[in-house]
Amino acid sequence: MKRVSIFGATGSIGQSTIDLIARNPDSYDVVALTGGHNIARLAADARALNAQVAVTAHETLLEDLRTALDGSGVAVAAGQAAIVEAASRPVDWVMSAIVGSAGLAPGLRAMEQGATLALANKESLVTAGSLVLQTAQTHGARILPVDSEHSAIFQALVGEDMAAVERIIITASGGAFRDWPLDKMRAATPEQAATHPNWDMGQRITIDSASMFNKSLEIIETKEFFGCDPAQIEVLVHPESMVHALVGFNDGALMAHVGAPDMRHAIGYALHWPDRRDLPVARLDLAQIGQLTFQNPNPERYPALRLAREVMETGGLSGAIFNAAKEKALDGFIEGRIGFLQMADVVEQVLDDLCADNGLINAEMTLDTVTQTDHLARIRADEVMCAKQT
Ligand code: NAD
Ligand code: MG
Repeated sequence: MKRVSIFGATGSIGQSTIDLIARNPDSYDVVALTGGHNIARLAADARALNAQVAVTAHETLLEDLRTALDGSGVAVAAGQAAIVEAASRPVDWVMSAIVGSAGLAPGLRAMEQGATLALANKESLVTAGSLVLQTAQTHGARILPVDSEHSAIFQALVGEDMAAVERIIITASGGAFRDWPLDKMRAATPEQAATHPNWDMGQRITIDSASMFNKSLEIIETKEFFGCDPAQIEVLVHPESMVHALVGFNDGALMAHVGAPDMRHAIGYALHWPDRRDLPVARLDLAQIGQLTFQNPNPERYPALRLAREVMETGGLSGAIFNAAKEKALDGFIEGRIGFLQMADVVEQVLDDLCADNGLINAEMTLDTVTQTDHLARIRADEVMCAKQT
């Protein structure tokens, strides 16, 4: 029996993970499930999977959760500290699928217990790459990438030597607005941005796909996880979302990972690694598909890609600033405070302001300094957005 916990169990990745686990209930001992506002979902899954504990991020919802799980034997808890506490419970495998920088602390705690971390929460590597990798190394914990591009790269590298890798190409669908003129993008609404042409994902990552902030996080995630030079990482727009990534070797070979756009592939690969098991994902009929297309991203439409390069150049805690400013700018767009294209302006302004402080950027990277830097960047992003509104 594999002991598993799922952080962010009620979200898109969490639900896909539960789908795979629920197909083979006898193979898994479910320890902790965590969620947010969706108490009914969290309670139903905790009952069905006979979890040891269910935790909501919101202390005000503790009584609702307790009521929903009354008589089930599932323990309940609430709050960020309780989520981190749940990550202390011994398990073999943890799915890190909380959205945003809130995913960092429970992931670190799980690795401190030596658990294998299936990492969907890309923000962990963006905000605190060296801390995450160092924690894994210190505690002998393994990290398995779950982002589809990074799972694809990971699979293309099986048995290969990183020294033979010339380049890594991650693909981007182009999101909801890939064919829209810039003027139309400027006036886009959150509802329009949250409709993805190929993938069914959470609201925040879907909007980040339309702005390519998602891809910008993934470029940094690639650099941190695979330890490659930023100049080796390329982005290719691929509207069909079937080739997830390609690795180019020094003999000119390109190894591509091709599959249906279904996150259960990457989740299942991390769940069963190093084995491959049968997964309930569609098999591609390439003759039916006929053709796959690729093009370079237009830098004018996607300033987020340039900002990611600047962050990799700056290093240190600039990733924490970048991610926090991005999360706040996204909140601002969802709340109607700023326009779609202004998100990148806000992030750039916050980076310019805070990265000028070398003491801040080059401070030792610990959970505390990352959290403080995240906080500072959110305050600055708020100020920048207020100035834009008046
Ligand atoms: P989602 O919004 O569908 O779900 C997020 C989960 O996190 C929910 O369970 C929610 O309750 C919980 N959560 C939100 N804020 C929290 C907080 N402050 N504290 C504790 N829990 C909180 O998100 P998602 O699309 O499943 O994405 C999850 C992570 O996986 C993100 O980092 C995303 O970038 C990454 N990812 C997602 C996909 C995808 O297909 N959805 C693909 C690749 C990577
Ligand atoms: Mg991805």
